[in-house]
Amino acid sequence: MRPIVEKPPMPLRVKLILSLLLTSLLAVLAVGGVAYQQLQRKFDRSAAEQAFAGFRADVIAYIGQYGSWQAASARESFRDFARRHQGSHTPPPGSGEQPGPDAAGDAGRSPAEREDAARGPQQGRGPDNGDGPGRRPEQRDGPGHGPDDAPPPGERPPPPDGRPAHDGPPPGQRPPPPHGGDDAPTFRFVLFDADGRALLPTPPYRVGEQLPDDARSDAQAITGNDGQLLAYALPNGQATLSRADREFLSALRQALLVGALAAIVVAVALGLLLSNALSGALRRLTVASRALADGQLGVQVDVQTRDEVGELAHAFNRMSRELAASHATIAQQAEQLRELSVRDPLTLLFNRRHFDEQATRLLAQAARSSRPVALVMADLDHFKQINDAHSHAVGDAVLKTVAQLLQDHTRSGDLLARYGGEEFVLAFPDTGLSDALALCDKLRALIERHPWANLHPDLTVTMSLGVAIATSGETAEQALKRADAQLYAAKAAGRNRVCA
Ligand code: GH3
Ligand code: MG
Ligand code: MG
Repeated sequence: MRPIVEKPPMPLRVKLILSLLLTSLLAVLAVGGVAYQQLQRKFDRSAAEQAFAGFRADVIAYIGQYGSWQAASARESFRDFARRHQGSHTPPPGSGEQPGPDAAGDAGRSPAEREDAARGPQQGRGPDNGDGPGRRPEQRDGPGHGPDDAPPPGERPPPPDGRPAHDGPPPGQRPPPPHGGDDAPTFRFVLFDADGRALLPTPPYRVGEQLPDDARSDAQAITGNDGQLLAYALPNGQATLSRADREFLSALRQALLVGALAAIVVAVALGLLLSNALSGALRRLTVASRALADGQLGVQVDVQTRDEVGELAHAFNRMSRELAASHATIAQQAEQLRELSVRDPLTLLFNRRHFDEQATRLLAQAARSSRPVALVMADLDHFKQINDAHSHAVGDAVLKTVAQLLQDHTRSGDLLARYGGEEFVLAFPDTGLSDALALCDKLRALIERHPWANLHPDLTVTMSLGVAIATSGETAEQALKRADAQLYAAKAAGRNRVCA
């Protein structure tokens, strides 16, 4: 029983394209996605390190210039100082005050940013660099790497010693970039003094608040150039990548997208190509199989590949050739069998069964065309004596010779058969009585005069024949019966004669 097919099977081509598509997309996502994640992590880390280095440099310079944080903040807000400091600060290479491109994790930075860092602090990036020449990109935003020192309203009273009022936004808010650019990484730090009291807080810390123990491990020490511990900086917030880094990552995302699209195109093209090759070979095999099933034995399929389909094609071709060969053998044997079934093995004349079939057909044809058919029964005279006198083998030889003589002296359209023993039967189509009598007498004389002495010196062979002309509507059997009666008459009349 055939299974019920609910939906048409998915073509091989679609399966192949889908699997290639899936594989290539997974590969792009796996390789590109992991690379992107790692690069972004590295950029984040680099941004944080860069921000800390700038913040640290400003703090060291701020304290260094005025002796202490308190003295410094009485004179000038940290924010103002940082701005000014950035304008004048050009760290010597390896001073540790400002990290060079290498110190900030140059390896993980984008080409744009590395170029930016390599330009040095004297070159601004934006068209408006009005904050003064030579600012480090990561310091341009001031509180970007550290909070301005203005306290939140109500939390930090103006210093009684008349130090300048702090400008800028409250801690925890990022002021707009001074020149509209946002190249610098934004990162906030809460500054604690060496004893762990907050000097420059952002919420939730307040001025003077103690650095919690659990946050101590995250705080980074700021030591002066002489190695003295000046302060602790506690990272607060998330590092924001520079514009260059963001642009680099965005370009990378776009490249990944383009890569994925390219992978799709390649997968579809490759799928079509492969499936064409594969399904083309399979289609040829299917066509050849159908032809074979329809009886086109020996049909060959042209598949050149050496893969499994090629193997299948080779096996098919061999099977088809062998089928054709065995079919030819069978046909030949069937023909031989058919021939054997209609022939007498000794004389190779047709046998009686075949004669009866053919005589019926002959008589029907003759009746349709109103043409006469002569039927003749012939019997060798005293054949038993021949066997007895000269051996059965001589008898067989006589039978074969007589058969050959009859065969040789009748027409191809005549029907000739060994009817049994030493009896022969003949049918002459389109032959009337006088012609039949003449023909039969010729055959009789032929046998009588044959040089039988070649077989045996004393051998003589004669034959008696009875003739009947089949009448319309008469069966072959009826006509033969009449011919047999004439044969009997010939025997009775003395043998070696023809009666009609
Ligand atoms: P008649 O003139 O009256 O026909 O006499 P006959 O001897 O020819 O007739 P009969 O029927 O008495 O003998 C026929 C003999 O033919 C008998 C049988 O042994 C012999 N015979 C039949 N078939 C074969 C055969 O295939 N080979 C040989 N050698 N003899 C055969
Ligand atoms: Mg006989
Ligand atoms: Mg006989």
